[in-house]
Amino acid sequence: MAETTLLILGASGDLTSRLLLPGLATLLAAEPSREVRVAGSDLKEIDDAEWRDLVRQAFEQGVPAPAEPDGGQDSPDRTALDRALETTSYTAGDATDARALQSLVDSLDLAAENRLVVYFALPPHITAKVCEALVDVDLPEQTILAAEKPFGTDGERARELNRLLTRIVPEEQIFRIDHFLGLYTVLNILGLRFANRLFERVWDRDSIERVEIFYDETVTLEGRAGYYDRAGALRDMLQSHLLQVMALMAIDQPASIEERDLRDAVGQVLRAARVPDPARHSRRARYTAGRIGERDVPDYTSEEGVDPELNTETLAEIQVEIANHRWAGVPFVLRSGKSFGRGQKQAIVHFRDPAHVPGGLQGRNTPDSLTIDFKPDCFTLRVTTNGRGDPFTLEQTELTGELGGGQLEPYGEVLASMLDGDLRLAVRGDAAEECWRIVTPVLQAWAANEVPMDTYPAGSRGPEDWETTAE
Ligand code: NAP
Repeated sequence: MAETTLLILGASGDLTSRLLLPGLATLLAAEPSREVRVAGSDLKEIDDAEWRDLVRQAFEQGVPAPAEPDGGQDSPDRTALDRALETTSYTAGDATDARALQSLVDSLDLAAENRLVVYFALPPHITAKVCEALVDVDLPEQTILAAEKPFGTDGERARELNRLLTRIVPEEQIFRIDHFLGLYTVLNILGLRFANRLFERVWDRDSIERVEIFYDETVTLEGRAGYYDRAGALRDMLQSHLLQVMALMAIDQPASIEERDLRDAVGQVLRAARVPDPARHSRRARYTAGRIGERDVPDYTSEEGVDPELNTETLAEIQVEIANHRWAGVPFVLRSGKSFGRGQKQAIVHFRDPAHVPGGLQGRNTPDSLTIDFKPDCFTLRVTTNGRGDPFTLEQTELTGELGGGQLEPYGEVLASMLDGDLRLAVRGDAAEECWRIVTPVLQAWAANEVPMDTYPAGSRGPEDWETTAE
């Protein structure tokens, strides 16, 4: 396998150490013949030993060292991990400076057969400046560019970023990363829907009443005010991850799951999606002081680095309508928030009541539902049955299936497809722009204060008067 050089810009940031390198470690452990050289760069001066230590610790997070020194039989093959640790390098520099970038690329001394991946693990506004600089940098022909979410900070900037990126390399070499597309449960939506007779026939407005996609987390700001306070929950989670999940839940069956068919289907469904009336179909809230488990959490506005003037939400909800024959009238509710007492990370499909239940069958006839849990990977089908006691009394039965996640963390999965040049797990430029088109009216309504900012104590289940699907 030819070597790939993964040049990470923003290498001393949170993403690199917490998700990107641990994800890469899972990939290298699963595929020991992969040759990946990691070259880090950031503003900070870091010496070689310190950098190697940072990489080692991040790899450990993804693939913990074996408890016994000899490893034991089931311990992963660490050949590729050790090789990556040996060859890794770090260069301090400003990635917005074209000359500094050129000498960084030249210093990598790439052989003709080796591929370069430039990964922007940078704040979104810096990524745009780096792209401007890269236009003047001489890059190897097959260079891949990997851009993180949020892709741009609004629709106009996303379009501008697309224009810039395609001046540097063709669209086929641009990977807009959304690691939710590397989650097994998200990928399994395709198999579940399209490889069973059971679901696809009822997967429409006739049988489905509504679809909810929740990603409520117990994590708080965790020192990320610099990024999060400017983004907020809507831009950080809904505009990217949850709209991608929604698209896979809603697409028509593609001719194949090859890149073009799959991404065409996603683009088509996103083009049909909109938030009809942001004042009525969106809600926002911010956490106040509270307690999560043993931890006291301060009011969001007193967290370090937060500017209360920005009026940033930590919980966002939108109701999306998909204007096509399959989905007209079916609300897709997307919600994500921080500092919840308990995480709820799932997509729930609520089926309609049956058209008729024969007289004589008594008891509560709860509508059926299908819940897809993002973590742990499993799905639960709740159906009404005759029950175990009185055979004519209805009750609900749960059928649960473990999806058996693979060896890779989501970032390992998206990195694997990126290093192989497989675009299926990357967001296409038009889809990224559509996602901004969908949320822009909501952002405008919020900026004009047409939607109140509710509050909820950290550790709760959101604002008291927000109804939510009980779990
Ligand atoms: P971060 O912790 O702020 O890291 C960004 C790094 O880029 C910092 O070390 C920063 O250095 C550096 N940097 C800033 N300007 C630079 C420049 N001109 N040249 C070189 N380096 C520069 O942010 P992050 O959380 O890692 O996020 C990075 C990207 O990943 C964002 O787009 C984010 O949305 C995305 N993402 C993050 C996560 C996550 O959980 N962290 C998850 C999914 C996606 P200074 O600190 O010195 O400015």
